[in-house]
Amino acid sequence: MTEEQKELNKERARLRTREWYRANRERALAREAEYRRNNPEKVKACYTLSRSKKLEQYKAKCKEWQEDNREKYQASKDKWAKENRDKANASIANWKAANPDKVLEGTRLRRARKAALPGSFTQAEFIELCAKYGNICLCCKLPEKLTADHVIPVKHGGRNSIDNIQPLCQSCNSKKHTKSTDYRIDPTTKEIDAYQEAA
Ligand SMILES: [Zn+2]
Repeated sequence: MTEEQKELNKERARLRTREWYRANRERALAREAEYRRNNPEKVKACYTLSRSKKLEQYKAKCKEWQEDNREKYQASKDKWAKENRDKANASIANWKAANPDKVLEGTRLRRARKAALPGSFTQAEFIELCAKYGNICLCCKLPEKLTADHVIPVKHGGRNSIDNIQPLCQSCNSKKHTKSTDYRIDPTTKEIDAYQEAA
């Protein structure tokens, strides 16, 4: 028997069943009712399956809409979070408690991004800073090519702004690694004095 013939036979069987149901409506309903009475578990399972299938279809449809309307979706999420701050915070806290690995990974990524930042201080500010210290490395005092070193490393909460930057040569910068050593020694600069008082 070919696949085509099999399909044809199936279709014929479906038609015959339908015909029978039409001609024997009362008997069919009675049979169905009896089946339901005798197999409550199966009927329940069937309902549950169909309900979960529908729910899945609905969820898939929602997701599709969200992907097609990213901006609208984000705006509606923001609006909801604004109007339901407590619920939103609780939901974030629940998610964090349930996903400690993802929380850690997020923290790591944020730190990496911050460390990779081109800087909130400008190149002009850095050049000005180097000039103020005579264009030498503040550690070895040699007129090497200077790099911007974070006095307090970003990793330890140091800011990425000019008041946390000192010019060091590449070699001294590498040796300093993640220590928080302040080589800025010019006592005539009020800014530095203020920084040292604060530190
Ligand atoms: Zn140096």
